[in-house]
Amino acid sequence: MTDRHAIVVGAGAGGLATSIDLARTGFRVTLLERGPAPGGKMHAREVDDKAVDGGPTVLTMRSIFEGLFADAGACLSERITLLESPIIARHAWTDGGQLDLYPDAERSRKSIEMFAGRDDAQGFERFYEHSARIHETLSDTFMKASKPDPVTLVGRVLRRHHPSSLMAARPAPNLWRALGRFFSDERLRQLFARYATYVGSSPLATPATLMLIAHVELEGVWLVDGGMHRLANVMSEFARELGVDLHLNTHVSEILVKRNKACGVRLEDGTSLPSDVVVFNGDTEALARGQLGAEAMRAVKPRAHQDRALSALTWCIKGSTAGFQLDHHNVFFESDYPSEFSAIFRERHVPEKPTVYLCAQDRGPNGSFNGSERLLMLVNAPADGDRQTWSGSDVLRTRDNALAVLDRCGLSVQFKDDDCVSTTPNDWHGRFPGTGGSLYGGASHGLWSSFTRPGAKSRLKGLYLSGGSVHPGPGVPMATLSGRLAACAVLSDLT
Ligand SMILES: Cc1cc2nc3c(=O)[nH]c(=O)nc-3n(C[C@H](O)[C@H](O)[C@H](O)COP(=O)(O)OP(=O)(O)OC[C@H]3O[C@@H](n4cnc5c(N)ncnc54)[C@H](O)[C@@H]3O)c2cc1C
Repeated sequence: MTDRHAIVVGAGAGGLATSIDLARTGFRVTLLERGPAPGGKMHAREVDDKAVDGGPTVLTMRSIFEGLFADAGACLSERITLLESPIIARHAWTDGGQLDLYPDAERSRKSIEMFAGRDDAQGFERFYEHSARIHETLSDTFMKASKPDPVTLVGRVLRRHHPSSLMAARPAPNLWRALGRFFSDERLRQLFARYATYVGSSPLATPATLMLIAHVELEGVWLVDGGMHRLANVMSEFARELGVDLHLNTHVSEILVKRNKACGVRLEDGTSLPSDVVVFNGDTEALARGQLGAEAMRAVKPRAHQDRALSALTWCIKGSTAGFQLDHHNVFFESDYPSEFSAIFRERHVPEKPTVYLCAQDRGPNGSFNGSERLLMLVNAPADGDRQTWSGSDVLRTRDNALAVLDRCGLSVQFKDDDCVSTTPNDWHGRFPGTGGSLYGGASHGLWSSFTRPGAKSRLKGLYLSGGSVHPGPGVPMATLSGRLAACAVLSDLT
């Protein structure tokens, strides 16, 4: 046991992972969370007495969570049930087309052949191989490693992989264009381009390397028994068992700095808490904008408004459905995909015919429901929650547009207005300071965007960073990795 004290600000996936790793190595850890529950974006909304997941629903890279628990001497599967989803996602188009993807590549290939023909099935084989190669090259050299610059990354790849891996993983512009080399059916291009939105970005502006996200999902998707928010609860319960002192409803208003080094925090009520190190798990833009005090502003570079990643409009619903056999994860597409991204990123509005994600949380293996079921409906939106106000009628109009897309795909959803709880970019901005409602930090736009995210060590001594706005990027597994990298950085500096 060391006598070192770490304060972690924010109990999102990254903050929880940092706390677990530091506590197990003997640090005294105080975890301060402004919200009423741990988990950050991993949260549930109460709809007619039911907890409906209102944040992430797609869990990938299970081994990252298992590793976090195992390294601290515990077994994740004894604390939570994760079930592999037999279907990765069901996709539907307004032209009546429907396609399921499976964790078994051969089964997905056959399903694509039935859907779009032989050439595109062969295109899928090439795509699968290519994206697997990128994933294999970047998994240990980029995602699970401390933030590299381009030269360091090349060195790491050459040390661990065949030199030809560099060609596969080189940052080629524009995922959308790259997908045209694999698929002639526009709908398949749309399906695989959508993975760019997992990091809040437009497939027309992200480098083609991001096809590795599709590969991660094709490797398997897990459903958490009880909902994704259960994962946050299990992580925070485990942190507490390890001695982490978690305080909810506790807003940190300042990072204290003495002799150019972070030395504690000040709470909203004026209380000062000293510590040896501070780890910040909020969006780094809150630091850059001075929301944690003037001294901490220099810790990171500010992010331009146009570089924010996507926000979303979501509805947690208890309702009934008819006309379309839903699976757990469902995506409903309209025809003109590129125009959706110019509407959001250039014209800064939600298009009239948006792509709609619908999570039917009571479906899947072990799922059951009787008549009414829990649904999360999501459309992407610009991260302008600090600039544009979403009125009640704007939200209703967008909801009706989303329901109309579902209807054109054959699905009708019935619910009472009281059983539908919306979250707008204004709400996200209120919950996650400094973001404008961006749910994924900065957009991964441009060839070198992956190198521009801050790493675990901020520019201010004693202040470390974890979370989706930090290397290796957003998503629950990545934010968890970032939390682990922050703990590593603290340990290597202090011990
Ligand atoms: C609707 C939605 C759907 C998503 N879908 C998926 C998905 O299917 N799969 C997936 O992997 N990812 C998904 N994501 C993204 C994923 O949820 C995030 O990338 C990840 O959870 C972020 O974790 P984090 O560590 O950055 O912490 P966050 O979740 O951002 O939490 C940060 C915490 O810090 C706290 N905090 C901030 N400032 C302060 C302060 N000053 N004082 C005290 N506390 C503070 C906040 O209250 C918050 O609890 C989704 C996100 C949303 C919102």
